Amino acid sequence: MFANKFEMIIRRLIVNSISTAQFGDGKKGEAMLPKIELHCHLDGSLRFETVRDLLELLMTDTLKDSLTPILNGLSTDTVIEDDERAWVRELLADDELLRQHLSAPVPCLSLDMYLKCFKIPMMVLQNEMALERVAYELMEDAWEDGVKYIEIRFAPQLHTARGLSLEAIIGAVLAGIERGERTYDIRGRLILGYLRNTNPDGIYDVIRAGVPFLHKGVVAVDLCGGEHDLFSSRFEAAFTYAREKGYHITVHAGETGILGNIKEAIEILKAERIGHGTALIQSPALYTAIKASGVTLECCPTSNLQTKAVTAIENHPIDSFREAGIAVTLNTDNRTVSQTTMTREWQLTAGAFAWDEAACRAITLQTIDAIFAEEAVKVWLREML
Ligand SMILES: [Zn+2]
Repeated sequence: MFANKFEMIIRRLIVNSISTAQFGDGKKGEAMLPKIELHCHLDGSLRFETVRDLLELLMTDTLKDSLTPILNGLSTDTVIEDDERAWVRELLADDELLRQHLSAPVPCLSLDMYLKCFKIPMMVLQNEMALERVAYELMEDAWEDGVKYIEIRFAPQLHTARGLSLEAIIGAVLAGIERGERTYDIRGRLILGYLRNTNPDGIYDVIRAGVPFLHKGVVAVDLCGGEHDLFSSRFEAAFTYAREKGYHITVHAGETGILGNIKEAIEILKAERIGHGTALIQSPALYTAIKASGVTLECCPTSNLQTKAVTAIENHPIDSFREAGIAVTLNTDNRTVSQTTMTREWQLTAGAFAWDEAACRAITLQTIDAIFAEEAVKVWLREML
């Protein structure tokens, strides 16, 4: 693309300064283009200090008594199992050890190793108080990052270990998102994920539990987790049911090399958006079909570097997809596990591919078109351009 390496380095330096101006330095309200995030996992985006707080609360049996008056009746049943106490004590005594368990190295050995960073979040996010808190804090963190609209996703099935109902889990996360909307100039919506390597029938419970919250914050269903096979046919009937109920569809597919999952997610599950879709690079012949389908790709460059889906940012296929006319978006995937922000993703990617202002604006417009919120939110976002 560039005449020589020197020219490429100079262009990157220039574009880095341009993209910083276009997207601000991460402080609220400074960005010229609104940042919009469509792919962000709640449980991968927890603040270190909050995890520490919640682990300490786990160690106390008096949580229910001490917090109930403040929580307006929210369930606080968080008493920890005895065999976990020693490990939690060890984590609380060593900040560095705790950090190592919450963030993946670059590169990480695999997607499965990356997914191990969710073990501690799953321990602490088993009560409504914690779920509401982390959802609110993610809204706050996104706002401080210059994000105007975010779709947060999580898998409700992972938060039932201490007896919470799926409805209570979804309601608590929505309460946090709504508190964020009331406090800051940001809008948020919620995507209900389901682990594709668990019993496919279980997704019906999640879909049903979310129905009362449709048009009240819940917008879509997603499949996530390790990607080992062609999974779409196992969920075909459930996704038909979800679409009939009014859910939008997004699916993690082609994150770690299985091209057929992208095709099947679109054809069988009728996905409107694909999480990652990195494997599409294996078949440029498919680009035309993907473009024609109107599907948008939720690209997460730093996460892809960590899971070795791509070897270097310069090799990320997002620019190749963009040049082919496929709608692409930039996302963090997991702010804590990947130690990133939207500001960082824009600077990293726009810098690597020397995107000028027109290119950044075009991606932002595509992103607005692909959000799952109602038209009024799209209008509000377009007015910022
Ligand atoms: Zn993801």
